Amino acid sequence: MNRYWSDVARRLTPYVPGEQPVVPGLVKLNTNENPYGPSPRVIEAIAREAGDGLRLYPDPDATRLKEAIARSHGLEPGQVFAGNGSDEVLAHAFHALLLHERPILMPDISYSFYPVYCRLYGIAFASVPLTAAFEIRVDDYLRPNGGIVLANPNAPTGRALALPEIERLVSGNSASVVVVDEAYVDFGADSAAGLIARFPNLLVVRTLSKSHSLAGLRVGYALGDPALIEALDRVKNSFNSYPLGRLAIAGAIAALEDREHFENTRRRLIANRERLVAELRALGFEVLPSAANFVFARHPGRDAGRLAAGLRARAVVVRHFRQPRIEQFLRISIGNEQQCAALVRALTELLG
Ligand SMILES: *Cc1c(COP(=O)(O)O)cnc(C)c1O
Repeated sequence: MNRYWSDVARRLTPYVPGEQPVVPGLVKLNTNENPYGPSPRVIEAIAREAGDGLRLYPDPDATRLKEAIARSHGLEPGQVFAGNGSDEVLAHAFHALLLHERPILMPDISYSFYPVYCRLYGIAFASVPLTAAFEIRVDDYLRPNGGIVLANPNAPTGRALALPEIERLVSGNSASVVVVDEAYVDFGADSAAGLIARFPNLLVVRTLSKSHSLAGLRVGYALGDPALIEALDRVKNSFNSYPLGRLAIAGAIAALEDREHFENTRRRLIANRERLVAELRALGFEVLPSAANFVFARHPGRDAGRLAAGLRARAVVVRHFRQPRIEQFLRISIGNEQQCAALVRALTELLG
C-alpha cells in the first residue's frame, strides 16, 4: 500500500495463479496445463507469421480467427468474440453483461477468479452452495438475479452439469445473462454452444489453453447472440484494440484446424484420467467423478496440506486450496503416462 495508489488498487484482492516453479525434472500437476503440447502445425504457423509483418498491428477484430472459431462450432462469426485468454474474455463479460442492480449468482465452490472480477468491477454476488456431493442444483438458480456465472465442468471439482440442466438454467433465467465457462468441456462434458441460436441470454466462454495445449499463447473466446458479442466488443474497444497479436491469431487458427491432433491428445488424456482415478481409489482416495483434465480427491486418513507438502518434497506439485469445504482435497492435473506414474509412486510412498 502506498499513498499514490488509487482506491481501486487499494480495494483489490488479486487472483493468485498456481505457481510456475522452475525446477528441473519437476512433475507439474498444479495448473491443468496439457502435457501433450500443441499441434506441430501451430508452431509452423507461428514461425511463418514471425517475420517483418510483426511491425504492423494485427487485425483488431481477429476476423480470420473468428471465422475459424465459428466454423468449428457451426456458428456465424458475428456470434464470436475473441480475447487474450478466456480470463480476459470473462473479465469483459463481467464488465459488459453482469454489472446490474441485482447480485449475480455463482457456486460457492468454483473458479476463484469470478469473485475477483466482481470486486474489480463492483459487482455484488451471492454464493450458491453446491450440494454435499459438490453438484450444482439448477433449482437454486431459479430466482431473481443480475446474472449467473458457472464453469461446466466445474472447477476445481471437475463435476459436469448435463446439457438439459444447463438448458433449464438458461431458459429459466431469460431476464439475465448466463455465462457458462467451458474451459474443460472438451474432456468430457456437453457444450452449450448448440443452445446459442435459441437463447439470446447465453454466453459460452472457451479457451485454447487446456484442450489445445496453448496456455502460453493466451487465446480465449466467447460464443453468444450477436447483441451479447457487441457488448463485449464495446468494452474491448474501450480497453485494448489489439488483445490478440499476429502470432496468437495464426497459432490459434492452426490449432483449430488440426482436429486430428486435438482428438488424439484428448483421447490419451481421458484414458490417463480414467486409469489415475482407479489407482487413486485403490490407494484409498475418494475421487469426485471428473469430466475435466484434473481430478479432485481427498484421503479420509491423511491431511491434504501434508500430502501436498509430501508430494512437493518428492518433486510433484499439485494444487491445494485452503478454502472452507475443500481444504481436505487435492486438485491433481492429468499429466502424461510417466507423470501419472510418478504421482502414484510418490503417493504410494507417502501413504505406505
Ligand atoms: C484455466 C481456466 C480459465 C482461464 O483460461 P485462460 O484462457 O488460460 O485464461 C478460465 N476458466 C476456468 C474455469 C479455468 O480453469
